[in-house]
Amino acid sequence: MKKNSLLFLTAFVISSCTSVTEIKPPRNIILMIGDGMGTSQIYSAYIANKGFLNLERCKYIGFVKTYSANSLITDSSAAGTALATGYKTNQKMLGMAPDSTNLTSILKYAETNNKSTGLVATSKINHATPAAFIANNVYRYNYEEIAYDFLKTDIDVFIGGGLDDFTIRVDSLNLLDSLKARNYEIITSLKELENTHSEKVAGLLYAAHPPSISEGRGDMLTTSSLKAIETLNKNKEGFFLMIEGSQIDWGGHDTLTSYVVEEVVDFDNTVGAVLDFAEQDGNTLVIITSDHETGGFAIIGGDISTGVVEGAFTTEHHTAVMVPVFAFGPGAEEFTGFMDNTDIFKKMFNAFNFKLD
Ligand code: MG
Ligand code: ZN
Repeated sequence: MKKNSLLFLTAFVISSCTSVTEIKPPRNIILMIGDGMGTSQIYSAYIANKGFLNLERCKYIGFVKTYSANSLITDSSAAGTALATGYKTNQKMLGMAPDSTNLTSILKYAETNNKSTGLVATSKINHATPAAFIANNVYRYNYEEIAYDFLKTDIDVFIGGGLDDFTIRVDSLNLLDSLKARNYEIITSLKELENTHSEKVAGLLYAAHPPSISEGRGDMLTTSSLKAIETLNKNKEGFFLMIEGSQIDWGGHDTLTSYVVEEVVDFDNTVGAVLDFAEQDGNTLVIITSDHETGGFAIIGGDISTGVVEGAFTTEHHTAVMVPVFAFGPGAEEFTGFMDNTDIFKKMFNAFNFKLD
């Protein structure tokens, strides 16, 4: 009996010591946002995959309240601002408090802390969600002004659509010239992207929004995310990367179950590739969440053995319901229980051990 206790005590001391040495901040954070992705959307992909989800590899799970400063039901710019800066703002505003004061995003804090930074999206890269990490604007639809904001940062990699907002502008500027002058390689196709080894990548792969999966986007999200990781990971100080599955939301607005399902499956495939990297790296915290739910989506029938999902929608708009958050890697244990969307920023800020400026 005594011997057993001693063994137990020894084991306890050893494991305590190990856990003490293991507590160190993650070098990298990858924040993945499924726009409009609630638990029904996620589970619809599990059914469509005939009982499989990469997301299930995340063992730390919580719930996120999404309301904005002036609305129970948020839009993507106010929600993106909350996730990116830790402050709630009014609908349609980006990177600003309700009084129009500029806010500093986690991406900008990462830059000032010598980390590399990146944004990847399946929408225009200057669309609300990615824009919340880089822009300060009273109105999310000021796309040309938001495109210009990319030049005010040291972001290393951005990949998505939106080329026309950089080239066909009211101010007649061609922002590609300015980007080239700042050592960015301008990439306009997925093929080119796969072959680049540049350290600064402006990936404007589509004139406006990328196509949906059903329109032939293919594995653009996974390919772009892995290229972003490869590029950013050259910095020994680490990186912050935001990856958005933008079109899950659009499937909800269109009240099309197949659109939702295909986009969540695509997003989850990228989750799998990102978790593979994080698992091997060991210094990367991956957080997967949503900005809000879209469509009041419900699963009212289907079959896991055949992958058939029968969905129904209660609205063409966003809803107020909480969204889940999943985390993986060093610091993941902080992302459990109930939290506010602004807490995601705070937890990332603390995980990185950043100090307020
Ligand atoms: Mg979005
Ligand atoms: Zn939406």
